[in-house]
Amino acid sequence: MGEKKHIKTTMREIAKYWETRVDECEWSIDWREAESHCWRCGYKKRLQRCHIIPAALGGKDEPENMVILCVRCHAENPNVEDPEIMWDWIKAYNTSCYGTFWDIQALKEYEFIYKSTVEYDIEKIFTEAGVENDEKEQAVMEALLSTRSKISVHFGQPYYNTATIAGIYRMMLKELAKKYGVTLKRI
Ligand SMILES: [Zn+2]
Repeated sequence: MGEKKHIKTTMREIAKYWETRVDECEWSIDWREAESHCWRCGYKKRLQRCHIIPAALGGKDEPENMVILCVRCHAENPNVEDPEIMWDWIKAYNTSCYGTFWDIQALKEYEFIYKSTVEYDIEKIFTEAGVENDEKEQAVMEALLSTRSKISVHFGQPYYNTATIAGIYRMMLKELAKKYGVTLKRI
């Protein structure tokens, strides 16, 4: 779903139009960054102009029908005739901390799959194994590093997707459990 070449509305026009219409605290970016950061995830990435109402459903090439998203978010945005849905979606993912969006999604993915949180599972292993506080960070870092050669990206997808990062967390936890001889609850 790449950006169509024939879009005439510029990023500047889109940003200018929405600047006065959306409250800054309702989404992931500052207005100063509306042309350099994705409006959904807040990451500084290569950006695309995206229709709110899709062209196929009669959506116009005008600032009021456009938002600015990264390639990854563009592939996930809602394509429906009701223009409110796009903003509901962008606002629902509002993350105030820059550079954390995809990590948060991966933590949620982990929760969804394993019905537990990464934090809880780490603490459980440490508590059962009686690991001292000053050893914890080092142990987590080592376990994380051990997963490095065991991951890959999808062809044509220049990032680790959410399920992959959730998988990294899980492999890290398995490594920790093995190291300390603790059983990690399976799903
Ligand atoms: Zn994005």
